[in-house]
Parts: sequence; C-alpha cells; structure tokens
Amino acid sequence: MSERVNEYPPVIGLEVHLQLATASKIFCGCANSFGASPNAQVCPVCLGFPGTLPVLNRQVLRFGIRVALGLNCRIQPRIVFHRKNYFYPDLPKNYQISQYDLPLGLGGFVQLKDRRIRIHRVHMEEDAGKLIHEEGEGGSLVDFNRTGVPLLEIVSEPDLTSPEEAYETLKTLKGILQYLEVSDCDMEKGSLRCDANVSLKTGGAMGTKVEIKNLNSFKGVSRSLSYEILRQGEVLDSGGKVLQETRLWDDVNERTLLMRSKEYAHDYRYFPEPDLVPFSVSENEIEAIRKDLPELPEARTRRFESGEKLPAADAKALTSVKANADYFEECLKAVPGTAKALANWILGDLSREVNERNLESVRDLSFPPGHLVELVKLIDSGRISGKMAKEVLVEALKSRQSPAAVVQARGLAQVTDLAVLKEAALLVVKEQPQAAADYQSGKEQALMFLVGQLMRRTKGAASPAVSQEILRELLKEVKG
Ligand SMILES: [Zn+2]
Repeated sequence: MSERVNEYPPVIGLEVHLQLATASKIFCGCANSFGASPNAQVCPVCLGFPGTLPVLNRQVLRFGIRVALGLNCRIQPRIVFHRKNYFYPDLPKNYQISQYDLPLGLGGFVQLKDRRIRIHRVHMEEDAGKLIHEEGEGGSLVDFNRTGVPLLEIVSEPDLTSPEEAYETLKTLKGILQYLEVSDCDMEKGSLRCDANVSLKTGGAMGTKVEIKNLNSFKGVSRSLSYEILRQGEVLDSGGKVLQETRLWDDVNERTLLMRSKEYAHDYRYFPEPDLVPFSVSENEIEAIRKDLPELPEARTRRFESGEKLPAADAKALTSVKANADYFEECLKAVPGTAKALANWILGDLSREVNERNLESVRDLSFPPGHLVELVKLIDSGRISGKMAKEVLVEALKSRQSPAAVVQARGLAQVTDLAVLKEAALLVVKEQPQAAADYQSGKEQALMFLVGQLMRRTKGAASPAVSQEILRELLKEVKG
C-alpha cells in the first residue's frame, strides 16, 4: 500500500457541518433543541408554507463570525443568502437557504503541529429535516424538527495528504470549536458532521475527486479515506478511470459504496434569496466579536508551557480537549506548583479511565477536580505512596467516594505515627543484632536491610523515607 501511495499521492479535503447551539432556529422562532418528539418544533416558516417569510436569527450571525474569526478567516461584511434548489422529502420548501458565492468567512487556517491547513470558507445555512425508516413499516416517516436548525459549513482547502493528517485536522478543529462555545460538537447527536473528499494525483496531475459521506466518527473518516485511496489506486492500476461520484461509508463492512454520481454546483440553480435582503455587518460589530474571542488551544498550550513549565507534549495533549484543560486549571488553583503531577494524573490514569468508558473528557468521570486535589495532597503529605494512590483512584471511581474516604475506609494510610514506628523499629533492631552492628560499623547496605524488615513488619504501610530516618536515629542512640 505504501508504494501505491507514493505512486499516486492522495489529495484530501474536508467539509464539516456544525450545528449551532442557539436557542431558536435560523429563520423562525422554533426551539433549537435535541430530543423533542417528531414534528413538535415546527411552524409555518420552517415548514415552508406559502406566504411566510424568513427572518435571520442575529445570534447565528454572531456565532458564525466568532467561528470564522477563530479559524483565522477574513469576514465578508456583506451578508447575502442564496437558494440551493433540489427536491428531497425532508426539505419542505424544495430549496435550502444557504450562502453561495459570498460566504461569511474566507481564507482561514488551522495550525497543526508542523503544518498549516488552509480553510477555504465558512458559511451559514439551514439544516433539512430527517427521514425515519421504521422497520416493518411500509414507508418512511419524516421529522421536520431539524428543518431550519442553524448550521455552519466549514470547508478546508485540499491541503491534506494522508488519512492520519485528516484525523489530526479534525481533532484540532473540534478542539477550537469547543473553545468557541457555539456548539456541543457532539457527533453522536449530529451536531458535528463531516464529509471528506479525496483524489489521487497521477504523474503530478490532479485526479478526479470522490466525496465520502456518512462519516460518524473521526476514526471513520480516517478509515474511509484509507479504503478510498486503496480503491482508487486499484482502479488506476488496472488502467481504469476514477469517476466523480459521492460514496457512502459502510462502517460495519469497512468499505465505501456508490451513492450517486457527483452533482455539480450548477445543478442546484443557485439564485439570491429574494426574501432575505442583503445587508452589511459593521466593522465595530466584527471587532467587538473579535475582542470577545476566548483563549484558543494554541495560546493556552503556550501558556501551559511557559507559565506552568509543562513539557510541550503534555501542554498540547491537555489543551486539545477544553474540558480536560479546564479541569487541570481548576485543580491547579487549589494545589499550586503541582502542574506536572496533575498533568500526569489527567493524561495518564484518568485518561485511561475515560477511554475505557468511551467518554469525552475527565469531566465525565465521577471524579471531580476536588478529588484529584485531595489525591495529590494525600501523596504530598506522605499519607499514601504514589503506588497506593493508583489503587485509591480506582477504588474512588468504583465507589464514587472521595480519595480521603477511600483511604479512611480501607485503612490504607501509611504509618507515619512516629511512636508506632519507633516501637516497631526497636523490635527489628533486637531481632537483627548482626545487621544493626554491621551498620554501626559503617556498612551502609545493612541499613537498607533493616528498612526492609521494618516495612515488612508494618506491612508496607511505613513510608521508606521515614523508616530510614527513624532507624538511623535509633542506631545512633544505641551506639552512643
Ligand atoms: Zn419554525
């Protein structure tokens, strides 16, 4: 496969649809929320009744500008909507209101570790409804709740050269979108959807582009691209021609299937939407939105590196998921100076639990920041060892108790009570007179043997450092 990739370098582009978390739909007052019963959130406007008129939801425009700025785009202040005409049962008007040749944002980029992926455009549009194919029912049902839900379409330039890079770009893009707080970015609910297109270059010439739809996860995007690169390579190898078409990703059988031969823009008979008058956004309004942009992942990574002295890889891994970075900062406020330890817990043991449970971030675990703070304090004060802390964490997650409660309930605390330790140390010295004498005559290793004995006697609950200190003290006294 690697040889073929070299022979036909892939050219990949992405198209992301982001559902905006506004209170109401883009052109009417219907609620924009997930999970209502079918056709409960509809009105004459989003159902396309004759004589109704759309009115643009101002919040959609603000969110759109926020995203376009967050992706480093130039804002096109002249707002013009177009009708994209096609027939489909989930589209009651038989056209979708979208933006065509004058999109909201142009010419942005997403910064990867060592590459910049250009963003071609960002535009606003309305969503269509949803067909429901009930099993055993003769036909299909249609739910118009989603009709008129505000979307942003984000289109990359075909800058990507591998499925892995597509995956990295999507992760980075999702991270930025989460920081902008304009959408829940939940792929399972369809708030974030992705299509990909891929062609293979032959002898330096661009190939024919194939679009892949039905991608429900970033891994699906990457796997479908790998499959398509192989498939198109085989077509070219056998002397065939790759056709311009749209293909569906079949996640179960890991292959793409022909959906339709690809349509062209002129098939849609785009024309300016006569019911929405073009207007301009003032420079002041754009600047106000720019000033209000949050700190984005890249800047936060730099701050964690320089301010908290975190290694670059840790800083980048933490900030790539906003909820994890927020969690980290919340903990750090309570236990300053423990940045590296906190990062280790969040990126290590806690992230492993997140992955095992198929969750999004450490926030979704039953382990609030206060619990991690408590765990770090228990280690720092010497009450438990680092090794014990790992067990405490597992138990705390299982029992939903705080780490201190787990330590208490299971009697896990290290014995740091000096009186108890001294008593045990005396017994050890009495039982091992030879080792004691050896140490006192200058054999340093003998002390480690005694420390081992003391730890055994206290069943591992005595901290090694304290044990050593007590034995040294004790043997000095005996000697003296
Ligand atoms: Zn409506």
